[in-house]
Amino acid sequence: GRSVHQIQSGQVIVDLNSVVKELVENSLDAGATSIEVRFKNNGLDAIEVQDNGSGISPDDYDTIALKHYTSKLATYDDLTSLQTFGFRGEALSSLCALSKLHIVTARASDGPKGTKLDFEQSGKLKGTSVVAAKQGTTVVVETLFHNLPVRRKELEKTVKREYNKVLQLLNAYACISVGVKFSVSNQVPKGKKTVAFATNSNPNTKENIANVFGTKTLVGLTPLDLRFEMDPSNRPGATQSARNWSTQEDAGSREVRIVGHMSRPVVGEGRQTSDRQMFFVNARPCSLPQVAKAFNEVYKSYNYTQSAFIFADIKLDTNAYDVNVSPDKREILLHDQTALLESLQDKLVELFEGQNQ
Ligand code: ADP
Ligand code: MG
Repeated sequence: GRSVHQIQSGQVIVDLNSVVKELVENSLDAGATSIEVRFKNNGLDAIEVQDNGSGISPDDYDTIALKHYTSKLATYDDLTSLQTFGFRGEALSSLCALSKLHIVTARASDGPKGTKLDFEQSGKLKGTSVVAAKQGTTVVVETLFHNLPVRRKELEKTVKREYNKVLQLLNAYACISVGVKFSVSNQVPKGKKTVAFATNSNPNTKENIANVFGTKTLVGLTPLDLRFEMDPSNRPGATQSARNWSTQEDAGSREVRIVGHMSRPVVGEGRQTSDRQMFFVNARPCSLPQVAKAFNEVYKSYNYTQSAFIFADIKLDTNAYDVNVSPDKREILLHDQTALLESLQDKLVELFEGQNQ
């Protein structure tokens, strides 16, 4: 039967997407400037994430995959402070419970040698061996859900769609991560290895977008830069969540800045597809269906015929939202979403008016 550990692990690792998200975020947290994601058989056989980050200290080998072990501290003090993605120490532990996982890691001081770490299902270190390796860390996740037959079957059935969802997520990380090279490939059995996309170590998001989606994509784009302050939460019709938030001592600022790139709102020129809409909160890719809807409604009101390209990073006070509403941290709760959406639409209309003159 299933262990409690397996069941709990299922909350962090629900699908291919969450595996890739957790591993890529770990690489970014480790300061990587190069991240290579390799799928074998769309991820069914293996998912490998290789980075050139800090590597793992030998002191941590024993604990790294244990539940709730983390070497990171979260600080929420101010908007500009750099935050790590991880802080709960659940990903590696969960992956040990749900797949066959091993790690190869090397630090700068290790020379051309690295260490391969093997783990038990519980996350306990099983053994180490010396291997050739460059600085950084490679995490290899084989046969995800091998010990959960029903979920394995489900994954086998849906893997093509899952793989495409993962690519969208990776597009988002690659576009937002300035100065980080991404390469994503897939090796299907008896087939050729296909490179999904590769970016350079670009100095800005625009060049990342060109690498991911092709330089042609840039032709229809215009910079997005909006600044506004959300209406006060004592306005009529404000939600309870907004009111609760605003009365907190540490509610923080109501200022919003949204930067990025988007399709020019020229009638009839839409030729993008909806998988090219990416939203971020303080550079964290997340799904914000209401924000997407707000953008798309404005495009529609301009008779923009097809769905627009949107790359929008919403810079907010870290106290203005909560990332911990869903276990995979993809969904974000904006404490005063209504206020944000209203100002956003007004500002977008202003911007579009300016551009259509
Ligand atoms: P969290 O990211 O919340 O700390 P994880 O289970 O994702 O928890 O990772 C556990 C620990 O393993 C991290 O705190 C970090 O010390 C280490 N680690 C994981 N992946 C990497 C990596 N790619 N490079 C360096 N260290 C890593
Ligand atoms: Mg992590």
